[in-house]
Amino acid sequence: MRLFLALMPPPALRRRLGELAERAHARCGGRRVPDDSLHLTLAFLGEVSEERAEELSTWVEGLDVPEGKWRLDAWGAFRRPGILWVGSQMPDRALVNLQASLWRDLEPQGFTGRPSRFIPHVTLLRRARRLETAGLSPPDLAWPYRRVALLRSFTDQDGARYQTLARSPLS
Ligand code: ATP
Ligand code: MG
Repeated sequence: MRLFLALMPPPALRRRLGELAERAHARCGGRRVPDDSLHLTLAFLGEVSEERAEELSTWVEGLDVPEGKWRLDAWGAFRRPGILWVGSQMPDRALVNLQASLWRDLEPQGFTGRPSRFIPHVTLLRRARRLETAGLSPPDLAWPYRRVALLRSFTDQDGARYQTLARSPLS
């Protein structure tokens, strides 16, 4: 099964992100990520066996995640796949540390997908027709977070759907 670790936004923020996605979609086109799927990926794990997934769930359920607040204040784009995202102008120190601490645990478990550079972002559009954000007012959102989720990704004809397998405890 295809797994990744992510932060999932609280409901009020999910709606605000959905509004941003709507505005971006009106200007840039492409496929809008559904509200239910909006997330911040911390680690993409790829194809994992059922047994491995069980072990990962147990690990996630024992994680001690420091709470934090991520400020989203910038639009961004990954040109090649036509991804439009919302994130921060400066990579958030606490999130960078959280991502690094997860990979410090994952690498000894045999996971090798650690990216050379981590750009915290929430994908809003895929295959955008144009990646022009200059006319959009800058985002200004705060994302309070307390726990990390282990998600399973299913791909169907409408794109990916995610299922939560485990979450880190509330400290
Ligand atoms: P789809 O691929 O169907 O458009 P998706 O990208 O949301 O949808 P997945 O490909 O399963 O679904 O990815 C789950 C999450 O992991 C997404 O946030 C995606 O950006 C990220 N991701 C996927 N592949 C990689 C990769 N090779 N390296 C880093 N992150 C990845
Ligand atoms: Mg993908």
